[in-house]
Parts: sequence; C-alpha cells; structure tokens
Amino acid sequence: MANGYVHSTESFGAVDGPGIRFVFFLSGCKFRCKYCHNPDTWFFNRGEVLSPEAACQLALKYKNYIKNGGVTFSGGEPLEQIDFVTETAKLLKENGLHVAVDTTGFTFNVGDETSVEKHLNLIKYVDLFLLDIKHIDDDKHRIITGQSNKHTLDFLAFLDAKGKKTWIRYVVCPTLSDDILDAKALKNYANNFKCIDKFEVLPYHTMGKHKYTELNIPYSLEDVLPPSEETVLAIKDILL
Ligand code: SF4
Repeated sequence: MANGYVHSTESFGAVDGPGIRFVFFLSGCKFRCKYCHNPDTWFFNRGEVLSPEAACQLALKYKNYIKNGGVTFSGGEPLEQIDFVTETAKLLKENGLHVAVDTTGFTFNVGDETSVEKHLNLIKYVDLFLLDIKHIDDDKHRIITGQSNKHTLDFLAFLDAKGKKTWIRYVVCPTLSDDILDAKALKNYANNFKCIDKFEVLPYHTMGKHKYTELNIPYSLEDVLPPSEETVLAIKDILL
C-alpha cells in the first residue's frame, strides 16, 4: 500500500473537472512555473500522510454532494505519487465515483517500462485527465517551467492511443504564453488527438503572489499584469 502526502483538500471544488468535486492537492512538483499560484505545493514529503483507504473514506464523507461530480487529484503534480493516486482511484471507482487527474504528464517516460506500466495501471481507474500544456514550443515551455514539454506531449499521445477522455488546460500569461501564433500552433497540434474533449483557457492571476513572499521565493512576474479580456477572448476564439 502506498501512502500519500496530501498538501490540502477542498470539499466543494467547482473548477477542477465536471460538477462539484472533492479535490486532493498532493505535495511535490518538479516544475517551477513562473506563474504558479501554489508554490507551497512544490515540496515533496510534506503535508498529511494518508493511506489510500483513509483518502477514499475522506472523499466518501461528501458522496451526497459529489455524486454528480466526483474526485480530482491535483497538486503539485499528483502523479509524482502515482501509486497512491492509482490505489485511491481504484477504491473511489469501486464506490461509484468519477475520478479526474489534473497533471502535466511529466512523470510519463515512454522509454521506461516501469513508468509506462504504472501509467497503464493508473488509467484503468481514471475517467478524465486534465492535461496542463504550459506551452507547445519546447524552448518557451522551458522558460515557463524549467522543464521540457516532451513528457507532456508523449503523455497526450499515450492518452489518445488508449482513448482516454482529456481536457487540455492552458494558462494565458502576458510575456510567456499570450501569443496568438503560439495558441494557433497549439490548436494545430491538438487537432491530431481525438481524445481531446475540451480546452480550458485560464487567465494568469496574481492571487498566489503573497505565498512567494511568505516562502521567501523570488517572484519573477512582479511587473506582469493579468491578461486583458481581449487577449483572453482572442485565445479562447482559437482554442475553444
Ligand atoms: S505544474 Fe502546477 S504545481 Fe507545478 S509549478 Fe506548475 S503550476 Fe505549479
């Protein structure tokens, strides 16, 4: 049994998948997105330790409220604790709940048999993936996150091959990911994948800024304002 480090939970989440959802925010992420509003979830092995059984029981307390929604694993990068997510998702499915995972796909390594096997096992118990594509251009992706987008795009191809329903999430952030041509390139790329059911366009906001001060981490977007409504609409026009 794989226990999980849970940073926090939300009982009535409305933005991480369909319907009202119980959300687990798991600790640990190897990305360092410049616009991340949850830098407090970056650190591994922090938070409350829960067994899959205890996590499932916790979500089940809200079954009446989430029966038309479900449970979402978010973070941090939830699949950094893939064994815990898989075991908990299996229990949630046995209890009739819809399961979603909000991920960058960074843990998927197509050249590593163990990694592929673990993700194959996971997808048996997940109804929907919310796949965060931070940028379609690898160089720009590295500027935003500090990592390549290769694993994310390989994971998208994997989900497509397995016919797993996927929503793509894209954050629009001035100076980093608000270029219309980049949005068009992302859309063209995405057109190759039938598993994509929907796009979600998320405007950058500054609500997590104070956490950087509290954690004593420099905030590199100090002078960057949220995108204008026009920019968000123009990108929505392309992607949605
Ligand atoms: S992947 Fe998510 S949790 Fe990790 S740094 Fe980026 S926005 Fe933050």
